Amino acid sequence: MKFASEFRDPAAAKVLLSAIARKADEIGATRARPVHIMEICGGHTHSIFRYGLDKLIHDGVEFIHGPGCPVCVLPMARVDECVDIAERPGVIFTTFGDAMRVPGHRKSLIQAKSAGADIRMVYSPLDALELARRNPGREVVFFGLGFETTTPSTALSIQQAAREGLSNFSVFCNHITVPEPIRALLDDPDMRLDGFIGPGHVSMVIGIHPYDFIAAEYGKPIVVAGFEPTDLLQSVLMVLTQIAEGRAAVENQYGRVVPEHGNPVSLAAIADVYERRPSFEWRGLGEIDASGLRIRQAYAAFDAEEKFGIGYATGRRNVPELEGCACGSVMIGKLKPTQCPQFGKGCSPEMPLGALMVSSEGACAAYWQYAGAREASVHGAAQ
Ligand code: SF4
Repeated sequence: MKFASEFRDPAAAKVLLSAIARKADEIGATRARPVHIMEICGGHTHSIFRYGLDKLIHDGVEFIHGPGCPVCVLPMARVDECVDIAERPGVIFTTFGDAMRVPGHRKSLIQAKSAGADIRMVYSPLDALELARRNPGREVVFFGLGFETTTPSTALSIQQAAREGLSNFSVFCNHITVPEPIRALLDDPDMRLDGFIGPGHVSMVIGIHPYDFIAAEYGKPIVVAGFEPTDLLQSVLMVLTQIAEGRAAVENQYGRVVPEHGNPVSLAAIADVYERRPSFEWRGLGEIDASGLRIRQAYAAFDAEEKFGIGYATGRRNVPELEGCACGSVMIGKLKPTQCPQFGKGCSPEMPLGALMVSSEGACAAYWQYAGAREASVHGAAQ
């Protein structure tokens, strides 16, 4: 497979693993005193476990899984608000499949659907637009969710709805941004992070400079990375090399996809449609200033918060997590998924307690799918 198999070449991976081992030894990283490298993106977490990189890499390198799964960081209150909108008469609520099974305080969207709400899975906001065209007597709401990767497509859909004058289409906007939670993590005195693997898809939109503060203000290296095993290994080597050389910079390993200054068309659509919220609530991190986007007044006719009088406008926030759920701590890398008392017991993909177990980018789902289910059964057998 051209352009993929090259990046999965075992011989190249071995060379990189040897170079990482030498560099880790050079800086004195050991199992007892590891270098902590946070992969921000949930897609990277899955690649690490899918290819067993956590097992293959030098003992002195520890991957810390970051808050880069947009479904996982969504607070319970927002899931409840989705259900609230979806259950209203006349509404067709549309969402990406990942969000269907995320537990809310009352119920998940899939439970609301089975109870009669008209909730439909879509692959793109354009599918929701088409539903609005075909159902002029119904209000079609799209659950706008995700980081800068998905933000432009929602913006373009709103612009298109405005051009067509589609008055029965709106977006429940939960788009969030990556740099602000990284700053929150760096400001957390309980976190020890030595470097970052930066998100590839987000950076394709925003470029690499929004991360400048990580190196300039906090003195930490960050390398924007691709998703194949040799991409990730090369990125780890680049982080370790910066540490060994006593420098901190923003570097781009994923240059074949990520332009230094991002995608100007996407950035223009984002700037046209959204503005920053004063703050937004993140699961595990609480309220973070300017970390969420809302729809500008010029597009208020397409804003589900305005149409339904719901969400941040009403002040319903900070719904507590379900009892016994460690999602918040796992979300920010303070606990590994297998350290959650519910992992493999009260919580599994079939019976999820938290979003991290159901999202395709969730850390618990990655552990379960590639490693953790085995560990959990071993631990369970030993108890
Ligand atoms: S195992 Fe379940 S409850 Fe525990 S952190 Fe993961 S998703 Fe949350």
